[in-house]
Amino acid sequence: MEVLEHRAERDVPPARCTRRLRFVMLDPRQTREQESQMAEHGTRQTEGRGQRYDNVLDTIGDTPAIRINRLAPEHVTLYVKAEAFNPGGSVKDRLAVNIIEAAERAGTLRPGQTVVEATSGNTGIGLAMVCAQKGYPLVITMHDGFSVERRRLMRMFGAKVVLTPKAEGAVGMLRKAEALAKKNSWFLAHQFETAANADIHETTTAREILADFDGERLDYLVTGYGTGGTLTGLARVLRKERPGTKIVVAEPANAQLLASGETQGRREDGAPAHKHPAFEAHPIQGWTPDFIPFVLQEAVDSGFYDALLPVPGADGIAWARKLAAQEGIFCGISAGATFAAAIKTAETAEPGSVILCILPDTGERYLSTPLFEGIAEEMTEEEMEIAASV
Ligand code: PMP
Repeated sequence: MEVLEHRAERDVPPARCTRRLRFVMLDPRQTREQESQMAEHGTRQTEGRGQRYDNVLDTIGDTPAIRINRLAPEHVTLYVKAEAFNPGGSVKDRLAVNIIEAAERAGTLRPGQTVVEATSGNTGIGLAMVCAQKGYPLVITMHDGFSVERRRLMRMFGAKVVLTPKAEGAVGMLRKAEALAKKNSWFLAHQFETAANADIHETTTAREILADFDGERLDYLVTGYGTGGTLTGLARVLRKERPGTKIVVAEPANAQLLASGETQGRREDGAPAHKHPAFEAHPIQGWTPDFIPFVLQEAVDSGFYDALLPVPGADGIAWARKLAAQEGIFCGISAGATFAAAIKTAETAEPGSVILCILPDTGERYLSTPLFEGIAEEMTEEEMEIAASV
């Protein structure tokens, strides 16, 4: 049986804590100490949020920054912002609600008009949730290389999913969505180009980080990119209000579009004119499409990052598994890859540094992917021994 490394509770101040009780990390083997701890503090209590919600969309955001207790090197304090706490299970709920509401405010989306978008999954799931709640029909275009649970999730929310060939990549999905929007006068969500993308991270995600780290050190913010919305929105705010925070951007080791320094050819509307030459297929779903998105271009042009780190797909998978097994934090491959970059950042960070990394989604939408490869369905030998032992 795997023995988990134990790290004693470290001498770090607790994060601002909304719970009345704070618990000390205990080794799973130290049951006697744990019992005395329980006796000292009593059973956990919660107080409710002190409000009721008018609809599910009002529960988007305000995701928690959670300290890492076993996997972080001793000389730093590492937090993860767990976007799986959003109601649709990912960071893209934020963008989805803002794309629709910004268009409602601008009058570019009519009541009952069909929404269409090209998406690798989380934006589709977010949009499907938003459109279900608000009553808009939704059509998603997606290439057939992405995990099947994503398609089924969108269909569960009532969306239609149109598959395109994997060989045509992200550009193929986009072209299909554009053609459908044009022919049917549907509303195209344009997640890679719309201002509504980075804007929502500026007004929500970034504000949450400022509030959660108010009066505390925050030396590094680590994130990957898909559209670049998270990075651009966060950086707009952090560069102004926390200029001491270094921004580290991770990208797939075999698709280092930013590190290549090669510019992206664009059409007039900002959409890509062609595939980026540095792109190669990678297993980190949701990260780095085969072009540099217009939303990300602002981060490039404004110098919104201090370092670029390449992450091999296998490292993303390995760290996502460790986060689940050793921290109880269940997340997707891009989250594991971002965490890998945070661990790398920690290696050269000065003692006492505080690092925050973004975990974009839950691991539940990766059941059919390499994240779960080797995770048994049937009883393992060890489990059979346990079963046979009584
Ligand atoms: N990880 C996953 C799993 C995602 O779905 C996305 C969004 N495509 C990202 C990371 C990147 O987020 P952003 O689009 O804000 O750059």
